[in-house]
Amino acid sequence: MYSCSEKRMEDKIKTFSKFGDAGHGGITRYSLSPEAIMARNEFKKRMEKIGAKIEVDDVGDMYATIEGTDPGAKRIVMGSHVDSVKNGGNYDGILGVMAAMEVLETVKQCDIPHRHPLTAMIWTNEEGSLYPPAMMCSGIVCYDYLPEDIRVKFKYEDMMNSKSILDPTKTFGMALESSGFKGDKKYRLSPDKYMCMFETHIEQGPILEDNGNDIGVVDCVLGMFNYRLKFFGQTVHAGTFPMPKRRDAFLAAAETLCYLHKEIDALGIPDLVYTTGEVVCHPCVHTCVPDYFDFSFDARHEDPKILEKVLDIVKSCANKNWGNGCTCEVEKAWNRDTVYWNKKLVGFVKEAAEETGVTHQYIHSGAGHDAQFCSYVIPTTMIFVQSKDGLSHCEPEFSSVKHCTEGATVMLNAVLKADKEDEI
Ligand SMILES: [Zn+2]
Repeated sequence: MYSCSEKRMEDKIKTFSKFGDAGHGGITRYSLSPEAIMARNEFKKRMEKIGAKIEVDDVGDMYATIEGTDPGAKRIVMGSHVDSVKNGGNYDGILGVMAAMEVLETVKQCDIPHRHPLTAMIWTNEEGSLYPPAMMCSGIVCYDYLPEDIRVKFKYEDMMNSKSILDPTKTFGMALESSGFKGDKKYRLSPDKYMCMFETHIEQGPILEDNGNDIGVVDCVLGMFNYRLKFFGQTVHAGTFPMPKRRDAFLAAAETLCYLHKEIDALGIPDLVYTTGEVVCHPCVHTCVPDYFDFSFDARHEDPKILEKVLDIVKSCANKNWGNGCTCEVEKAWNRDTVYWNKKLVGFVKEAAEETGVTHQYIHSGAGHDAQFCSYVIPTTMIFVQSKDGLSHCEPEFSSVKHCTEGATVMLNAVLKADKEDEI
């Protein structure tokens, strides 16, 4: 059993937290921004220092590889992303990159024997905060292996034309060109060169902390569906039109949302989560009764039969009268099935957690990650590190140096188990 260094991990956390420091404890580090480029250069500098070879593929994904004793063996890759949401924290994504670096540094420093080449990597534009969608570059790289209804959203040309949310004259392709990180397609992660993938990530929820566990042995990414509920009424003047005659689309949506919560909660399903996070109101003027309103409805659960039951309730909203005569349309945005991690790799992570003596438990991932797309290409798994108060995608996001290092240590020992295999 080998251990990673808390001191080195702390130094990395402090250093990377400077790139995009927003001045109140967190960072804003959009993909390919000057701040993200600083993080990439720091990754390159530190990895070159231990003798790793750097490769960059055509969408800016970076790979730092140290050779093993078997030149014919496939690589074992570890990684995550360095970009963040606006006013995000110092751990989401970057922890997986720092943990991968830490594994390589420990292997080098302790001269740990290994047969397979080991690679630390950065996926470009995971958050999609400036150039949507999220998980853009794992979507591009894994395109040929993804289910048809997922892959259609990640066509290379469409991605290159993705417009900046801050400046629609700028595209992702332009940012990539000028970043200095547009490499060669031949370096893309592929099953003929890579054997398996590990991603360490903060939990982004309170389950590990509530259960007093340091590390999560992740077994799957939850299946989910995302629908839009659209309401149509009539705009009239807010001051002149009598209340009983109004068809208020916002009121219709509010009634529907309350109905959804009441009906879905009555199913009494443990572990089901659902959210309305995005709304559109038209004309959105205080002197007008809204004639149009729509909201997103995102539901997640491991069991597809449960999601089916919830979806039946969502769909039933289309056949009802809401807000004094408004109509409602229910439209599918997208869905995904539960993605299970490779059982053998999950077993290695569990054994490694046991051997290193960290408290741990099995856990599902409620969020999507690059590892999810990668799992369609090569055997993949994830390791979660406890998040303080379950907070993420915000500046108070925090995981202790001890927990971050434990995550790296578990990954290192799981990687060394995988290293003994020819295939997973
Ligand atoms: Zn992330």
